[in-house]
Amino acid sequence: MSENFSFNQYGSVTLYCQHCKKAPILMNGGGMPIKLETLIKGSSPKRKKELLEATKKHTITYHHHHHKIMECTSCNILSSKFFIILFDGQSTEPVYTPTFNCWKCSTALSPATKPPQEYCCASCGQQRLAPRYDEMLWD
Ligand SMILES: [Zn+2]
Ligand SMILES: [Zn+2]
Repeated sequence: MSENFSFNQYGSVTLYCQHCKKAPILMNGGGMPIKLETLIKGSSPKRKKELLEATKKHTITYHHHHHKIMECTSCNILSSKFFIILFDGQSTEPVYTPTFNCWKCSTALSPATKPPQEYCCASCGQQRLAPRYDEMLWD
């Protein structure tokens, strides 16, 4: 695995655990354009509230959405999160970016930086992951 490993080159990764045999699929990357109203409608109540507040405060001229593989540096586990990012056309900085916390320990998640086999299985905690990369299904 190269030093500057990046998940961006993969559509998704299956994290097969050789210990507990679980094999969650983590999505990565963008998909088809979806209308912002549809994205908001499909969001969790907490996220929906944040998005609606942002659309009230700002005139949203552009949005995009993608899955990103995130790490919890405390548990050393990976998870895939769905990002909806809003822009107002005034600045290149988004006016809204979601934040995520680890479902196990509540630590703030950050983008994954290591090859997947260096992480632990989110189910059993063993470092026995055998990643399989899947083709982009939707691009
Ligand atoms: Zn496991
Ligand atoms: Zn954690």
